[in-house]
Amino acid sequence: MSILVVGGGIGGLTLALSLHQAGIACRVFEAAPEIVFEAAPEIKPLGVGINLLPHAMRELTELGLQERLAAVAVETKEFCYYDRFGRFIYKEPRGRFAGYDWPQLSIHRGDLHAVMLEAVRERLGPDSFVLGKKCTSFAQDKSGVDKSGVRVDFSDGSSASGAAVIGCDGIHSAVRKLLHPNEGPPAYQGINMWRGVTRGQPYLSGASMVIAGWLEVGKMVVYPIRNFPDGTQLLNWVAEIQSTRNAMQDWNLAGRLEDFYPVFEDRTHDWLDIAAMIRNATSILEYPMVDRDPLPFWTQGRVTLLGDAAHPMHPRGSNGGGQAILDARVLAGCLRREASVESALAAYEKARLEPAYEVVIANRSQGPDAILRKVHERTGDKPFERIEDVIGNDELAALAENYKRIAGFEREALRQRAPLVQQ
Ligand SMILES: Cc1cc2nc3c(=O)[nH]c(=O)nc-3n(C[C@H](O)[C@H](O)[C@H](O)COP(=O)(O)OP(=O)(O)OC[C@H]3O[C@@H](n4cnc5c(N)ncnc54)[C@H](O)[C@@H]3O)c2cc1C
Repeated sequence: MSILVVGGGIGGLTLALSLHQAGIACRVFEAAPEIVFEAAPEIKPLGVGINLLPHAMRELTELGLQERLAAVAVETKEFCYYDRFGRFIYKEPRGRFAGYDWPQLSIHRGDLHAVMLEAVRERLGPDSFVLGKKCTSFAQDKSGVDKSGVRVDFSDGSSASGAAVIGCDGIHSAVRKLLHPNEGPPAYQGINMWRGVTRGQPYLSGASMVIAGWLEVGKMVVYPIRNFPDGTQLLNWVAEIQSTRNAMQDWNLAGRLEDFYPVFEDRTHDWLDIAAMIRNATSILEYPMVDRDPLPFWTQGRVTLLGDAAHPMHPRGSNGGGQAILDARVLAGCLRREASVESALAAYEKARLEPAYEVVIANRSQGPDAILRKVHERTGDKPFERIEDVIGNDELAALAENYKRIAGFEREALRQRAPLVQQ
């Protein structure tokens, strides 16, 4: 059988590598006419970082990619919470520094994509990844008479046939629209983001992920994603502000400093001058925080959805890419195990739909940044003297642990779980 993978993002590439590992043939059809890797900020400053949490890193490790990814990433040591006045609230070690068997990596998206695509081309052959193939429709023989399965059509007039179509085509998924034609646009719940990268000096441990301040008064997320030989780093940051602004959902919409800088101009803390970091950005992009409501089903016969096509989520717990990776691994495992393609796709949906939507719902209100909301509410947005008077360490730790359970990266549970793809 040959699986048709629509979309060559994090989910599609992980699926291709996992199917290959499971001994199943596939081809990836990507809409983009060309892939431009953002190899260095001097060459192409666009793009943002991404955090690969230990549950995602376990899967990428089992695909043999850990070393290649670590070589171009920063291994995150700790996750730190501050209020908007720069006062320390809480921190916890992350990845191997927290005793996990797998690291947490902060990486440039271009670097992640480059490593994954290189592996796909090496292992599956250069023809396995086809550019310029924008899926517009699919057709499957519902009578079950035609065992060849399903056909996918592309905007250039070509088509491909295979045993199944997996829609890994992101938040604006064409495959999802074909399965659920009456769904509206992505849901905006009033948080706008400005994302940027700045080359600067390391701060705190040199590998600290920081979230500071609450959405009503401006929240900042910062982490380094690349080390340079001269000791500087590429700092990836996201400014999140509650706002009615809902700019078009375009990854590359340029952001304007004057639209959000005033909220952060006095944030010059001794551990990091956030205001200067924003002013010195090599690029700024604007993006509304959007997701979609859960669907009743992803699968119809030999067609299913995966990653953001199935469950786009607010980027509040560093988890959208991780959940796409988990989907891909579970689906490859099901295709290897089950007697038929239809039963494999059904088993995949049964295993993944509920857990993925639990994360979508948690990310609307109970993401790891729920700690910052509590501090903001209890202090009435005033600087506190002692954090213990606002929130106890046990409550802080419980909030952080709860999110790990929902998102599937509790340390012991992750260590004990059987591999998703048996070799
Ligand atoms: C600001 C921000 C920060 C984030 N940070 C993190 C983080 O730290 N950690 C994390 O795990 N996740 C993070 N995420 C989420 C993560 O980026 C997504 O969940 C992840 O990219 C989903 O992968 P995907 O493969 O499903 O979709 P995508 O990465 O969007 O890939 C979809 C692919 O399909 C292609 N395509 C689209 N339409 C078609 C078509 N019709 N035919 C063929 N191909 C098509 C696209 O060109 C694209 O290559 C963040 C998201 C945002 C917005």
